[in-house]
Amino acid sequence: MPRPRKDKYGMSFVEWCNESGRRGARLLLECREKDPSKFTKGSHYKALWKCAEEKCRHKWRTKVNKRTRSDRPTGCPKCANQIPRSKSDNFITWCNANGERGKRLLEEFCDTEKKPEELTKASHFKATWNCSTCAHKWRAVVRDRTRSGRPRGCPECNPGARKRKPKRDDV
Ligand SMILES: [Zn+2]
Ligand SMILES: [Zn+2]
Repeated sequence: MPRPRKDKYGMSFVEWCNESGRRGARLLLECREKDPSKFTKGSHYKALWKCAEEKCRHKWRTKVNKRTRSDRPTGCPKCANQIPRSKSDNFITWCNANGERGKRLLEEFCDTEKKPEELTKASHFKATWNCSTCAHKWRAVVRDRTRSGRPRGCPECNPGARKRKPKRDDV
């Protein structure tokens, strides 16, 4: 029986998974192809994946080699938006790069469950905020506060902000 070649790219995907500890086991678990033994570790085939995170379960397609490569492998795109990719890419760095507005958001952030450096500006996490104007405490998704179009502010200072529809002559 001919076996897949054992060099870096010729190794079969399944074989690579079995030899790559926890990371390999996870990729094998996430791979939703009927027969993952058909392609190699370095395959450019766009395989179907399903995120193993219980809260996520996102399905997406990406090339096998993008997930198995040692240099910046890709993971679930949905989770990638919520977990800082590096120490220099998180909510704090976003705040620091966004002048007065960023400064204010960082000041108002008062969550006890998560630290600001554990989140990204696009995080779906519902954090606790403390309004710097009226001292009201409320919870809002980080992304809703950092987005550029109609970011959410304090509900006490902006009554009806959630329901208000933009009027035609609203500039
Ligand atoms: Zn995910
Ligand atoms: Zn307020």
